[in-house]
Amino acid sequence: MNQADVIIIGGGLAGMCCALSLQRAGLSAQVFEACDAPGGRVRTDRVDGFLLDRGFQVFLTAYPEARAVLDLPALDLRTFEPGSRVFFGSSWHTLMDPWRRPGSLLDGALAKVGSISDKVRVGTLRAEVQKLPVAGLFAPERPERTIEQLLRDRGFGQSMIDRFFRPFMGGIMLDSSLKSSSRMMEFVFKMFSEGDAAVPSGGMGRISDQLASRLAPGTLWLNAKVERAAPGEVDIANVGTMRARAVVVAAPGSSAEALLGAQSGSARWRRPWRGVTNVCMAIDGPPPQPGRDAVLLLDGENTGPITNLAFMSSVSPLYAPAGKSLASLSVLGVDHRSDTELLSACRSQLSRWFPSEDTARWGLLRIQRIASALPDQSPPWYTRAEWPVRLATGPTRLAERLYRAGDDVDTASIDGAMRSGRRAAEAIMADLGVALPQRGERP
Ligand SMILES: Cc1cc2nc3c(=O)[nH]c(=O)nc-3n(C[C@H](O)[C@H](O)[C@H](O)COP(=O)(O)OP(=O)(O)OC[C@H]3O[C@@H](n4cnc5c(N)ncnc54)[C@H](O)[C@@H]3O)c2cc1C
Repeated sequence: MNQADVIIIGGGLAGMCCALSLQRAGLSAQVFEACDAPGGRVRTDRVDGFLLDRGFQVFLTAYPEARAVLDLPALDLRTFEPGSRVFFGSSWHTLMDPWRRPGSLLDGALAKVGSISDKVRVGTLRAEVQKLPVAGLFAPERPERTIEQLLRDRGFGQSMIDRFFRPFMGGIMLDSSLKSSSRMMEFVFKMFSEGDAAVPSGGMGRISDQLASRLAPGTLWLNAKVERAAPGEVDIANVGTMRARAVVVAAPGSSAEALLGAQSGSARWRRPWRGVTNVCMAIDGPPPQPGRDAVLLLDGENTGPITNLAFMSSVSPLYAPAGKSLASLSVLGVDHRSDTELLSACRSQLSRWFPSEDTARWGLLRIQRIASALPDQSPPWYTRAEWPVRLATGPTRLAERLYRAGDDVDTASIDGAMRSGRRAAEAIMADLGVALPQRGERP
């Protein structure tokens, strides 16, 4: 292992984007990843011919950083229908985005999910967030409150909040209490109104694969767990101490805390994280209706356990072998029931959702309990859009340089993770006196 300019701990999106930006500026990097593959939270596994993402995730095509970094055509993105179907009162209610699907204007207006005034309020919110640049959404003069408070301040009715926003935003922030930050909701709302929700045809992991494929040979080291990070050096399990001009901790807050101890310096990383339980089921034949068009299905009754359900094979057929379908169910929080109990609770909800369907024919592929899926984003969390990436800014001896990247120093999203990686790289370049490469060209 040759010595590199920069050591990066963590081969998730943040770590890989950091390495790519450094690479582009002519600096060498070594990324040490504890797991057997890169991607962190964005990985896809093949199980019995099905593609199983590690939890239900979508890529929003309007993400500005991701658009600049990724080769989107190569991802062969498959899009969801803009809107959702909400189950309550024994039936499904369609709420399409009338701005993106003008033909659905009347259906949407008549759908019993909220009042006509609520739909007008959605339009106003949409227009406002579209008018502002992303940085403007996080401007200090705009208040940060809980999502619930924002919705109440804007006059949304209880039915619209409970039937649509609670399962929809709750599923995105992994928090059905709607106590997460209004700023992230506005960011997400802007992204949804300016682009599509999509997945690469071959699974979300293709995003990570694409980034990894661009790393120079010798950059990425797998099964390499870093046990300690200090200014200019790290201890790697079974390898020993490695040194570099700068060290970037691109592992999530809790790991960063363990690696850095007292040097971590920020109470921000001691926040608990939010978890989710993902249940993937295989169906022989097509999915029941509604589910054949690529629409997200929501629990408008908030009785659970399933908050949302996506038939992934309706979005991209590659998610399931020919003649079969894949259902991805999200249960908020880490569900501690046994697999049998959880499955039985899910099946009884599915029987209410699809009464003419024999859900016993749905076979279990995998239950994944993801404890640290997203940081808890309750306010104050986005008091600024970009949290500092420099950990040691003191007297600038080169060996003192320690940096952070990860979705907890930016928006908790694919886009934020990627951006934090670039920001950490740019801080290193500035501190080492290396010219920033021109923007515009992909790293
Ligand atoms: C279920 C779920 C659903 C989500 N849905 C969406 C969505 O729909 N849209 C969206 O934009 N975002 C979504 N996200 C969030 C998005 O996936 C993350 O924001 C992003 O992937 C974070 O990337 P990261 O590089 O910051 O962290 P991570 O992906 O966590 O990467 C950190 C890496 O560091 C490694 N590591 C940790 N400790 C060490 C160590 N000591 N030594 C070496 N390596 C170490 C880890 O193994 C990991 O690979 C979701 C996340 C989850 C889990």
